[in-house]
Amino acid sequence: MYCAFTLLFPVILLVSFCMADSAYIHEHFLPCLSQHFSNSTSRSKLIYTPNDKSYFEILNSTIQNPRFSSPLNPNLCIIITHFHASQVQATVNCSQKHGIETRIRSGGHDSEGFSYVSDVLFVILDLRNLRSIKIDVDQKLAWVEDGATLGEVYYSIAKKSENLGFPAGVCPTVCVGGHFSGGGYGHLMRKYGLAVDNIIDAKLVNIEGRILDRQSMGEDLFWPICGGGAVSFGVVLSWKIRLVYVQSKVTVFSLVRNLELNETKKLVHKWQYIPINLMMIC
Ligand SMILES: Cc1cc2nc3c(=O)[nH]c(=O)nc-3n(C[C@H](O)[C@H](O)[C@H](O)COP(=O)(O)OP(=O)(O)OC[C@H]3O[C@@H](n4cnc5c(N)ncnc54)[C@H](O)[C@@H]3O)c2cc1C
Repeated sequence: MYCAFTLLFPVILLVSFCMADSAYIHEHFLPCLSQHFSNSTSRSKLIYTPNDKSYFEILNSTIQNPRFSSPLNPNLCIIITHFHASQVQATVNCSQKHGIETRIRSGGHDSEGFSYVSDVLFVILDLRNLRSIKIDVDQKLAWVEDGATLGEVYYSIAKKSENLGFPAGVCPTVCVGGHFSGGGYGHLMRKYGLAVDNIIDAKLVNIEGRILDRQSMGEDLFWPICGGGAVSFGVVLSWKIRLVYVQSKVTVFSLVRNLELNETKKLVHKWQYIPINLMMIC
């Protein structure tokens, strides 16, 4: 009997906390959001609470580390899948006002789960619907929203020009949001550097809910969001990127050599002289 009680007590405590949290969210946070959200996007497409049928589907759809795809995440109250920058501003403002933490999620590839786990009450600010990509081939520039995947970025650029590309990571489902703000390395790194070396502007919602660009945020903020993890500074909405020249035909190959065959040393030595010449041809 004693054992049963000791096991039951924490469960009851947890459930009652959740109910209290849920009531607080419904009485304060959701009405605050409703005031700010325009009628153009229906609430059902924007806000997912644990009572909604598609809540777990939305939650788990981009979680890359299966360790976190458990429905037992008691501090998560709501997932908001924004369609407009103004909705992101509203979420930031209402979270601030009602003392609720936000977790920003773009592609959900963060292995530690920073974009979908917290020790305190929180909402997920999910950017999956902010994924437009606008390309200016003549200027060799593009504006890319944070919910776009790298695959979408590469494909969109390739559709416009077979001689333009962008130097970022190799995984097509990683999103621009976490990737660019963390640096972003990939196959074109030797020639063009990291993704952040080719970012020339960004739009960010700061803690006060204001939208800033590079000029209005200043270099002291622009510099750390390009590689230092933008999540510490605000929600990045989009990035302006410089496109780079690529050959229209690319040859990819992989060569497997066994260390036991004494060939490896010779091969690695020879390889040192090849890439530099390849870069000159490009
Ligand atoms: C399979 C796989 C392959 C990978 N390949 C590469 C690679 O080739 N090169 C490379 O450099 N990296 C690679 N990575 C690492 C990847 O770039 C990072 O994990 C990146 O942070 C993922 O971004 P995301 O938006 O998909 O993830 P998320 O989990 O959504 O975000 C990651 C972090 O960034 C924050 N964040 C997301 N969006 C925003 C935003 N709009 N504003 C502010 N903060 C934001 C989140 O809160 C979280 O802390 C790979 C990861 C995986 C799982």
